[in-house]
Amino acid sequence: MQLSEKEILEKLKTGEIRLFEIEKYTNTANEATDIRRKYIENETKVQLPHIASYSIDMTDTAAKNIENQIGTIQIPVGVVGPIEINMDNETFKTYVPMATTEGALLASVNRGCSTIRKSGGCNVSILANQMTRAPVIKTKSTRDANQLKQWIKNNFDEIKKVAQSTTSHGKLLKIDPIAIVGRYVYPRFVFDSGDSMGMNMVTIATEEALKLIEKENDIDVIALSGNFCVDKKPSAINMIEGRGKSVVAEVIVPKEVVEKTLKTTTQEIVEVNYSKNLLGSAISGSFGYNAHFANMVAALFLATGQDPAHVVEASLGITTAENENGDLYFSVTLPDLPVATVGGGTRLETATESLNLIDAKGSGKVNKFASIVAGIVLAGELSLAGALAAGHLASAHKKLGR
Ligand code: NAP
Repeated sequence: MQLSEKEILEKLKTGEIRLFEIEKYTNTANEATDIRRKYIENETKVQLPHIASYSIDMTDTAAKNIENQIGTIQIPVGVVGPIEINMDNETFKTYVPMATTEGALLASVNRGCSTIRKSGGCNVSILANQMTRAPVIKTKSTRDANQLKQWIKNNFDEIKKVAQSTTSHGKLLKIDPIAIVGRYVYPRFVFDSGDSMGMNMVTIATEEALKLIEKENDIDVIALSGNFCVDKKPSAINMIEGRGKSVVAEVIVPKEVVEKTLKTTTQEIVEVNYSKNLLGSAISGSFGYNAHFANMVAALFLATGQDPAHVVEASLGITTAENENGDLYFSVTLPDLPVATVGGGTRLETATESLNLIDAKGSGKVNKFASIVAGIVLAGELSLAGALAAGHLASAHKKLGR
């Protein structure tokens, strides 16, 4: 049933229509979005003209990305680069969009990109594609828990068939590790999720597999996620086993480039990396043996429609620096990079534009995208390590007004 804006606003006021139901009474999701925002503006007496100003179609977002939408937020987006990347089978240069409100970030990453270009580009390897879901299952005794673990191991092929029946792209690689605590069992389902980030995909597939496990065993599935996955939380298991895409990027920066572009020496960068990223992280019990992976990842995720909550995972990883006869060997290892070039927020028009800009939209592009993220993280780490070694971090921020 279609209603006018005036009628909907009146019925919202009386409670006859609830805030999340407006779409049922309008022709388009955009109309519903605007009516909902006007109702909120009236109720709160706060005007939202910038949130009201958007160009994307809210139909898909209403169906797949958000509820109760009232508009969009705008975050400044800039470019860095070109970054020059040598993948195992492809070499390319590209400008890269990053969205942030942190002044000096793009300037710093840009300096890292320039250093990498002058060094002949960076090498990037994709080590793994493993999205995970680990339910928690209760058994009657710890003996039953151990038997369930064996049953899952012995019936992997059958479980795989059932899990994969829900997806044409997902592949169940293994169910490992399977942890036991008392009489609780935590099987970690590990999927290759193709070009998708895969959380919806692997949750649906794991749920289907659990139906089989439940049918054949006297168990109680307590929760589809038992926090052994580990989704959107810092964890040692993700650092060790990997989650999402696992990626490594490296560069050898010639001595002259370290001195001219980074205005420091190889030995000083090695010292900063050792004492800060390695020792400092060790004494603080941090899982982020790096300077600021999260900065680059967050700005790239916002620009390209990745799930921003996954920054917490992508911030895990290690930066290394070695003195190679005066030249600088520098690398970043990202074991836990949940990224996509299809599905999720990559559908949004602005994300699509950003992904098109780097030629990383759609099927067959996720390894390229993960490589770009790793390359940009490498550039950001290199530049910050250089700035700290040269002692000009504070002055750069001051000069750029932050
Ligand atoms: P999605 O938006 O459902 O996209 C994935 C689907 O795209 C796949 O299942 C696959 O369908 C299809 N697809 C088409 N081409 C593909 C290709 N080349 N490679 C891989 N898949 C392809 O969601 P998702 O990636 O599974 O998950 C992302 C969303 O999950 C984000 O919006 C995120 O915020 C949300 N999320 C969900 C949870 C949760 O617990 N459910 C947790 C965190 C985040 P087929 O499977 O039919 O092949």
